[in-house]
Amino acid sequence: MTVLARKNELFERAQAVIPGGMYGHQSIMYLTEDFPLYFERSEGAYLWDVDGKRYIDYLCAFGVNLFGYRDPRIEAAAAAQAAKGDSMTGPSALMVTLAEELTGMITHADWAMFCKNGSDATSMAMVIARAYRGKRKILLAKGAYHGASAWNTPVMEGVTAEDRAHIVYFDYDDIESLEAAVKSVDGDVAAIYATPFRHEVLYDQFFPSLEYAQAVRRLCDEQDALLVVDEVRTAFRLSRNCNWDDLGVHPDLSTWGKTIGGGYPLSALLGSDKAREAAAKVYVTGSYWLGAVPMAAALETLKIVRTTDYLEHTFKMGDLLRNGIAEQAVRHGFELRQTGPSVMPQMLFTGDDEILSLGRGWTGEAVKRGAYLHPYHNMFLTSSHTEADIHQTLEATEDAFVALKKIAANKASA
Ligand SMILES: *Cc1c(COP(=O)(O)O)cnc(C)c1O
Repeated sequence: MTVLARKNELFERAQAVIPGGMYGHQSIMYLTEDFPLYFERSEGAYLWDVDGKRYIDYLCAFGVNLFGYRDPRIEAAAAAQAAKGDSMTGPSALMVTLAEELTGMITHADWAMFCKNGSDATSMAMVIARAYRGKRKILLAKGAYHGASAWNTPVMEGVTAEDRAHIVYFDYDDIESLEAAVKSVDGDVAAIYATPFRHEVLYDQFFPSLEYAQAVRRLCDEQDALLVVDEVRTAFRLSRNCNWDDLGVHPDLSTWGKTIGGGYPLSALLGSDKAREAAAKVYVTGSYWLGAVPMAAALETLKIVRTTDYLEHTFKMGDLLRNGIAEQAVRHGFELRQTGPSVMPQMLFTGDDEILSLGRGWTGEAVKRGAYLHPYHNMFLTSSHTEADIHQTLEATEDAFVALKKIAANKASA
């Protein structure tokens, strides 16, 4: 009997009834066999797979919670609402309160609309930006992830050139490239999108210059176009406000997702008064968008955001992990680049090959030892990670470096 019996059995069944066995970011083609595929339960910083193995998780479902899985405060709020109703013919009163609270917390926001996925919010922003002045072009940074709809999915399979007819690309943090993109569309700019910092798969993360953020704002103003800041991944991870509001660069629209429902499905589009009339004109909806349970979870999430030191604690844990891994990498002779904020670390090996043998090798060895790290996607810490978790993770990564050295040595001598 092998330890991974249940995982393999499930995957075999899945291949018969689910195309490719799995799709999207958890598709088997992106992971090595060291990674678990199906999970039984989750609690705080921990995941248990279907074979009963526990992991200290640094993906937290790709970023959908700030305080760890099944936070008891959020679970209680959600359960109390679930006892009263979730999807109803219209929204609950919570929708109004939630809009009031978000607009109270986020500097540029005068109104809020709610949906389910980040992709809903980024698509809604596009429609509103076009309704604003009847212009068509949407300017996106090359390679920036804003969702998986036809206009922005990173994989072009099944997407036509016409789907992208009004999407124009420029280089992130490159004012000249952005200015050239604006010039090329001759006054037809509806919106310019920006993530607060650069956080793409396979690349080092970095913050843009303040001049760049200010240039995006200036160009939007000159063009009478809307500035959309996509906070879906970063929401409340670096700040209790919109990250560009903190810079003094106030967006017209911002998209929120992943964290705001405390693990429950909810995303939001926030906007300033400038975009209110356009937002009131468009037709946007979804069968589950008005559900009350995720909104109850979101209200509790915002309360914890406002009233606890979750953010400061999470940074402390992120720094502890980063420093520990940096020391290990140097000692074992690897050049590991840890980029971005320590609460959303990206870890990439210098000199790695195309298939990321070092990255996949090292994270695979860590996963085998109970620390779920990712070879090329940014990871996420949560306030549920404790110092003991970090120390235990560092034991796993220490052993993973030792194992990686052996793998690398064997490869070199082969
Ligand atoms: C995840 C993500 C999205 C899409 O959100 P979904 O909920 O997966 O649709 C959009 N923008 C950014 C920056 C994201 O990280």
